[in-house]
Order: sequence, then structure tokens, then C-alpha cells
Amino acid sequence: MAKTILLFSEGLDSILAGLLLKKQGIEICAVKFITPFFGWELKENPEKFFKKIKDLGFEEGKLYDITQEFLEVLKTPKFGYGSFANPCIDCRILMLKKAKELMGEVGAEIITTGEVAGQRPKTQHRNTLDLIEKETKLKGFLLRPLSAKLLSPTEPEKKGIVKREELLAIKGRKRTPQIELAKNFGLKEIPSSSGGCLLADPQIGSRVLKVLKEKRPLNLETAQLLTLGRHFFEDGLWIVLGRNQRENELIKNISSNRFPLYSLDTPSPTAVVLEGNPPLSWIKKLLVKYSKKAKIKLEKGEDVNLIELSNKNEKD
Ligand code: SF4
Repeated sequence: MAKTILLFSEGLDSILAGLLLKKQGIEICAVKFITPFFGWELKENPEKFFKKIKDLGFEEGKLYDITQEFLEVLKTPKFGYGSFANPCIDCRILMLKKAKELMGEVGAEIITTGEVAGQRPKTQHRNTLDLIEKETKLKGFLLRPLSAKLLSPTEPEKKGIVKREELLAIKGRKRTPQIELAKNFGLKEIPSSSGGCLLADPQIGSRVLKVLKEKRPLNLETAQLLTLGRHFFEDGLWIVLGRNQRENELIKNISSNRFPLYSLDTPSPTAVVLEGNPPLSWIKKLLVKYSKKAKIKLEKGEDVNLIELSNKNEKD
């Protein structure tokens, strides 16, 4: 039985691409690449991902953390950014190169994606699809079942391993054909076309662009922190405050012993200093601004004190 690696974003298009090939008897190994900007929740809870693979009837699922390589791409994308900080063309190339590396290990002879010709102006324009094939040196082995009939036949199609006549010729931005197809496959839930990427989110994407432009440190920890909290930037200074209990806990976990952490001795956000050495009075003032309880205490003439949180004490 022929086997393919499916680039699986969990979005509708990649689901349908997989189902179309599964219907032809092709074995599916669904691969999802994750970074703090997409799919990161699966790092702690991969069960949801594997349940989805099982429910769809795909033979295999694999999750790979590509943060380190992705951050390099994010800092200097050869083909630029999309609407915000999303370096989509470079990102696709990176993922396909990683998938290509996995072909031997997994025993797959095809790489499949849910790309639809002309759906996204930048990444799925016909010329871009060709460019991606060229950059990844995957020409002939990169199958896009949803638009295959509009593209040159791939090697598996030429050899009859994949029946070209059963593939589709979807193009453009309309979602109707995909929604119809999802209904035909009996999908109970119809997810969005893509898997959701925080770099394309206006608020988070703009924040990431600012960090890149100002050449602030971008690493595993700061990348995770960029996806949450309130951020305050000044010359040589970068501080993040949690907006709720969940974010406060995340800030503590992510920052573990790497960055100074502060809070008040009254319910307040947790603050982490990622850059610079701000005066403690400044940090206290900022925390008071976002703590109702601290403001009330001060109005009553009571004391509010800044405390430095050490992760050691948190665990004790
Ligand atoms: S939207 Fe995000 S995950 Fe998707 S291709 Fe662009 S950068 Fe990559």
C-alpha cells in the first residue's frame, strides 16, 4: 500500500486532502508541526490531536516541535511576511523540507498538502505553488489533491499509484466546494480552512513585528510570552504582565528562573522583566495600575508591597 505524509494543520483543507487519498487506499501519516505560534497547546495535551487522527481514520499521526528552525525563518524570511508577522511562504518551505526529511523514516513516497490553487493570494497563487516545489526540490512528489487536476501530474499520479481522475480541480477563495465535500465525507464538525496561526492575528502579529524590528530577543521563552499578556516596551526595556490567573501561571512556568518575576502582596498580575533593569518603584506602579485590590488598599491608606517571586519558593 502506498503511503503519504500529510501536512496536517487540522484545518478543513488538510482534512479533506487526507480523506480523498484515504478513499483511494493510500495510507496516511498526518504530520503536524508546532511552535508557540501554532499548535502549541498540543505540546501539553497531544491526546486531542491523536484522537482526531483516529476519528478521521488516518493510520498514523506525528507531532513535531520546530520552534528553533521556525524562529530563524521568522527573523529573516526570504519571501517576506503576510498580513502581519506570518512568513507563510518560508514557513511552508520549512515544513515541506522537514516533511521531506521524514519520508524515509516514515516509509512514505508522497507528500500531500491541503493547498488550494488561488485560495490565498500570497501562498497559494499558482506561481507560489511552483516556487515552493522548486525551493523544496519536491517537484513530482508534492500532491495537492484538492487542486491536482489544475496542476501538472505528479509521479504517483503518472504511475497510477494515485488515481488522478478521482482528485479535484478546486480553485479560488470560495469555500462552497470544500463544505460540500466535508458533508459528503460525513464530517460532523467543519473546521476553518486553516489551523489558526497567532502570527496572522492583528494584535499578536503586530507585537511580534515590533520585537523583530527592534531586534529584541526572540527565543523559545519570549516567543511563548509574545502570545499572551500585556506588553510594555521602552528603550532597552520589555516587561510582560499577565491578564488573568491562567496567564500569571503561564508567565511563571515559562520564565522559570530565567527572568525576574514580580507581583504585589495583594492580588495583582504577575510581571516578568524580559529586558532591562527597571526601578522597582516603576514595576510596582505598573502592577498597582492593573490591580483593583491594590488601588483600594492604597486609597484606604494601607500598605502595598512589591514582592520578587522566585520559582524556587513557588515550588516549595
Ligand atoms: S499562517 Fe502561520 S502556520 Fe500558516 S503558513 Fe503562515 S506562518 Fe505558517
